[in-house]
Amino acid sequence: MKRIAVLGSSGSIGRQTLNVVRKYPDKFEVVALCVNSNIEELKKQSDEFRPKVVGVTDDSAFFEAKSVFKNIETVGGKNALCEIAARKDIDILVVAVVGMCGLRAVMTALSNGTTVALANKESLVAGGKLVVDAAKKVGKELLPIDSEHSAIWQCLRAGNKRELRRIILTASGGPFFGKKKEFLKKATPQMAVSHPTWNMGQKISVDSATMMNKALEIIEARWLFDTYDIDYIIHRQSIIHSMVEFVDGSIIAQMAAPNMELPIQAALTYPDKMPSDAARFEFDTALTFSRPDEDTFILPHLAKEVLKMGGNAPCIFNAANEACVQLFLNNKIAFTDISIIIEKTLFAADIIAEPSIDEIYDTFDEIYGKLMRDYNSKGSSY
Ligand code: NDP
Ligand code: MG
Repeated sequence: MKRIAVLGSSGSIGRQTLNVVRKYPDKFEVVALCVNSNIEELKKQSDEFRPKVVGVTDDSAFFEAKSVFKNIETVGGKNALCEIAARKDIDILVVAVVGMCGLRAVMTALSNGTTVALANKESLVAGGKLVVDAAKKVGKELLPIDSEHSAIWQCLRAGNKRELRRIILTASGGPFFGKKKEFLKKATPQMAVSHPTWNMGQKISVDSATMMNKALEIIEARWLFDTYDIDYIIHRQSIIHSMVEFVDGSIIAQMAAPNMELPIQAALTYPDKMPSDAARFEFDTALTFSRPDEDTFILPHLAKEVLKMGGNAPCIFNAANEACVQLFLNNKIAFTDISIIIEKTLFAADIIAEPSIDEIYDTFDEIYGKLMRDYNSKGSSY
């Protein structure tokens, strides 16, 4: 029996994690669940899974939660994620919150020797070296949930690290594949969150539309697989979830019909593979590949520059994006402003070569806070 805790249990990944748990009641015990403010969903989940503790990070929702969860330990406020992550009665911490707020929880779990299954890519992007070093120190492998990284992780079992030539991430291209600047200038939040293949949270949906999602995934792959040899191609059908190429030129691909429950299950049941009733790929769709349009979607290429800059540059890159996504969703900036502001912010910021975790959080607060102040006061650009 693996004892698991889910941070971000009310979200897209959190709910799908509980779907996997539901299928294997004799394999998993849910010890803790945590949301930001969605108490209604948390109540349903806690009635079904009977965790020992529930967490609500938003202060006013936590106040309300105290009267809803009378017979269960309830933690709340900013520290709730870390309080849960620090528990000794957890075997796997599933980090499925959105944004860099998950970083301290990831570090806390790792420093206790608890295995981390990571969907929350922003934490790894912002705190890459710290996270990887903390995992190494306790001899724990990070279990990737992001579908591309789960694919690479599975493909790498076909060879050893020394034989790797490059990683090839696949990208669906998002809802604006093939579109040019003139169209994108007028793209609305509603258009941006309508993804062709995946049903995801709002933030990652916008990231897919700008291709920032692939940019974050390039940085995520650098840390998970300790290589800079990372390329990406457009594969609209999202059947091949990513590939690795070995030194002899052979390429191993991981394929399945798109369904996030598969990478989640692969992480939770690791090192075993368990049966799944997910729809199978029936070989009834032609698989196509094309080169990305890097003149229109500049962010994945910029991610490679960010990796060269090192230090807190990935944190700056991520913080600028977190602010821009929020500003775009609030109609404060245009879709095409997102990449322009991220690039400008990145090259204007001071780089700290070896940031501590406090410096990572300070960097985030400074960049995020400044952009929110600057653009919130300007009003809508429409
Ligand atoms: P959602 O927006 O659907 O869910 C986010 C979850 O995090 C919710 O439970 C939310 O609680 C909680 N949350 C939000 N803000 C905070 C906060 N400040 N403190 C604590 N908890 C918070 O996101 P997704 O599930 O789509 O994505 C989660 C992560 O997984 C992201 O990093 C994303 O990039 C990554 N990912 C997602 C994929 C997907 O298919 N969705 C695929 C691959 C990676 P509440 O509901 O109360 O607001
Ligand atoms: Mg992904």
